[in-house]
Amino acid sequence: MKFKEQIYDFVIIGSGFGGSVSALRLSEKKYRVLVIEKGKHFKPNDFAKNNWYLRKWLWVPSLKMFGIQKLTFLRHISIMSGVGVGGGSLVYANTLPKPKKDFFKQGSWKDIDDWVKKLSPYYELAWKMLGAVNNPYLGPADLALKKIAEQKGKKFKPAKVGIYFGQPDKQVPDPYFKGKGPTRSGCNFCGACMTGCKYNAKNSLDKNYLYLAKKNGAEILAEHEVIDLIPIDENGEKGYDVVFKKSTKYFSRSKSVRAKAVIFSGGVLGTIPLLLKLKKNRLPHLSPQLGKMVRTNNESLIFSTVYKGTFVNQMSKGIAIGSILTYDKNTHIEPVRYGKGSGVWGPLIVPLVNEKNFLKRNAKLLLKLIRLIPVKLKIFLTQDFAASSTVLLFMQHLDSTIQLKRSRWGLSTQVDRNESSPTAFIPEALDFARQFSKNIKAIPQVLFTESISGIPSTAHILGGACMGKNAEEGVIDKDHKVFGYQNLYIFDGSSISANPGVNPSATITALTEYGMSKIPDKKDQDKNLK
Ligand SMILES: Cc1cc2nc3c(=O)[nH]c(=O)nc-3n(C[C@H](O)[C@H](O)[C@H](O)COP(=O)(O)OP(=O)(O)OC[C@H]3O[C@@H](n4cnc5c(N)ncnc54)[C@H](O)[C@@H]3O)c2cc1C
Ligand code: SF4
Repeated sequence: MKFKEQIYDFVIIGSGFGGSVSALRLSEKKYRVLVIEKGKHFKPNDFAKNNWYLRKWLWVPSLKMFGIQKLTFLRHISIMSGVGVGGGSLVYANTLPKPKKDFFKQGSWKDIDDWVKKLSPYYELAWKMLGAVNNPYLGPADLALKKIAEQKGKKFKPAKVGIYFGQPDKQVPDPYFKGKGPTRSGCNFCGACMTGCKYNAKNSLDKNYLYLAKKNGAEILAEHEVIDLIPIDENGEKGYDVVFKKSTKYFSRSKSVRAKAVIFSGGVLGTIPLLLKLKKNRLPHLSPQLGKMVRTNNESLIFSTVYKGTFVNQMSKGIAIGSILTYDKNTHIEPVRYGKGSGVWGPLIVPLVNEKNFLKRNAKLLLKLIRLIPVKLKIFLTQDFAASSTVLLFMQHLDSTIQLKRSRWGLSTQVDRNESSPTAFIPEALDFARQFSKNIKAIPQVLFTESISGIPSTAHILGGACMGKNAEEGVIDKDHKVFGYQNLYIFDGSSISANPGVNPSATITALTEYGMSKIPDKKDQDKNLK
C-alpha cells in the first residue's frame, strides 16, 4: 500500500455519515484527506442475497464474516450498526426525518447555541446531498399503519427517504450532481435496503459524499482499523501519528501515517471505545464526560408476523421504511421491512410479554411459546418469514441514558443511579403492536434478548462524546473540537447531545455540514499559520 502524501492535513477515522461529509467538504477546501475505514468497499453485486448469507451480511471479522451489519450485545442494550465504506448508510433504511424542536433545546448542548436556527439550512443541504424525497409507494405494511392512523385520528405520512425513484433496471447518468456523480438505476421496491441495495437505487454515502470526495482527491483506505493515535507533542498542536492495521486478516503488522488533524467518525461503537482506550495513555486530558450520556431513541422493535389471510408473503413490498405515524407528542412509529428470504430473525424471536418481573415474565413466555407452537410451525414450514413480517419501530423523545465503559473484558455498560436506562417495555408500543397485529392477522414477537432478559435493542446508538460549554460538561465544544487537545474533532453519532426521538442520520449529516462550514479553506488556514 502506497500513500500519496507524506503528511495528511486530515485523517478521518470511519466513513459513515460524519466521516463522508467531512471528507467531501475538506477535499473541496483543498485539504489532503485520508479516510481509514475498517469495513469493505461494496459494489451492488457484492451484497448478500438475503440475510441467511451470514458471511456477506454480518461483520464478525474473527469468524471471517465481512458484511455490513454489526451486532453488539451489552448488559443494558443490544445494538445494530453498520460497517463498510459508507458506514451505516449501507445497511440503513434510508429514512431522513428532522427531529422536533424539543431536541434542539434539551441535553448538554441546549444553551450553547440557537440550534433550531443554526442547523435549519444544513438539514436542507443534507437532504439535497442525500437525495431525500417523499416515498411515492405505500406497501401493504404502510397501508395497514395508515388504516390505524385514520381510525385513531393520528398523523400519518410517507417517509422522507434517500432513494433514487427512477425507472428500475434502467441505468441513467447521475441525476443529482449535474452529472458529476455515478450512474444510477431506479428503485424496484424489493424491500431489501437493509441487506444492501443490489439495484444501485439507494443513495448510500459511496454514491454521493464519498464519491465526490474521491473525485476531489481524498483517499479512502478500506479494510484497515485505526488502533492507536500518538500526539506528536503534548496537546496535539503539531499533529498526530495515526496507527492502523488490516482488519480483514488475522495477523498483520501495524502501520502509521502522520496527520496535522484527526477526525473521529467511527460511530458510537468505533469512536467511544477507541477514545476510552486513548484516555488511559495517549490522551489523558480528555473530558471525564467521555462515554457518558449514551442514548438510544428509546426504541422498541416489535416483529408482527402474519400467519393467515391476504397479507401472507406480501409484507416485503415497498422500501425498508415507507411511512411514519405520529402516535403522540413523544412517540413515532415506522413499519420496517426486509426483502424476501431475509428470515434470519425468525428463529431468534419469541412472543411478546408485558411483565417487568423476570420470573413471572419467563413463566408467561413459556406458556405463550407452548400455545404458539402450531402457528410458529406453520409460518416456518409454509411461509417466507421476512415477506410475512413487519418490524414496528417505536421511537420516543423521552430521555434515558447509559454509560459506555472499557474494561479488560471489552466494552461494557453502566447505568447511573440517578438516570433511567432504555427499557424493552414501552406500554404504548406493546398496545399498538397488538392492535396492528390483530388487524392483519399477525402475531407480535420480539428478539429473545428483550423478552427473556428485558434488554432493549437499538439501531440508533448515540452520544458518549457530547457537546458542552467546557471539558467538565462535555467532550467537544460547539465546533466539535475535542476539549484538552488541538486539531482533534468528533463528527458522528457520538456527538449527538440529546435524544432526537427519530432516526438520526439526517441530524448527523446536518451537524457535520454545519461543523465543516466553520473550517476555513486550506489557503486561508495556511495564511493564518504564517
Ligand atoms: C439496520 C439499521 C437501519 C437503520 N436505519 C436508519 C434509518 O432509516 N434512518 C436513520 O437515520 N438511521 C438509521 N440507522 C442508523 C444509522 O445507520 C446510524 O445512526 C448512522 O449510520 C451513524 O452514523 P455515524 O456517522 O455515527 O457513523 P456510522 O455510519 O456508524 O459509520 C462509522 C464507520 O466507522 C467505521 N469504523 C469504526 N471504528 C473504526 C476504526 N477504529 N477504524 C476504522 N474504521 C472504523 C465503521 O466500520 C463504520 O463504517 C439504521 C441503522 C441500522 C443498523
Ligand atoms: S427497495 Fe430494493 S431497489 Fe429500492 S432502494 Fe431498497 S434495496 Fe434498493
